Amino acid sequence: MALERTLSIIKPDAVAKNVIGQIYTRFENAGLKIVAAKMAQLTQAEAEGFYAVHKERPFFNDLVKFMISGPVMIQALEGENAVLTHRDLMGATNPKDAAPGTIRADFAESIDANAVHGSDSLENAAIEIKYFFG
Ligand code: UDP
Repeated sequence: MALERTLSIIKPDAVAKNVIGQIYTRFENAGLKIVAAKMAQLTQAEAEGFYAVHKERPFFNDLVKFMISGPVMIQALEGENAVLTHRDLMGATNPKDAAPGTIRADFAESIDANAVHGSDSLENAAIEIKYFFG
């Protein structure tokens, strides 16, 4: 087991649903510690930069538009195997495929408005934490 940090974003749909606290409770119950956090209204440039790896994907423009449609809550989480632990809590990208009891199964509406983001590797976690917290 390794102590890791990962980046989590509660997306505009979940912030609008008023479930930040319920999602934080899931992090805490899974042993993930919130070591940095901020609420932000992303600019178009910030959202495009964050999702640059998806620039060529057909959903890129809609994804950016969605991510700037309202405030997001951004946090760095620390714990044993934080990257995978957090991905397990989130559930599959498409909430229709997400296992019962996961954040996306319980709070997400669709593959576009899917409640949360989480780093998919330790390497990307370091890049994403730096992107938002310096
Ligand atoms: N996304 C989308 N349509 C798709 C695939 C992805 O809108 O067909 C969005 C969705 O919000 C997802 C994000 O793009 O969370 C990043 O996609 P990725 O495959 O990296 O999924 P994640 O790591 O968020 O589960």
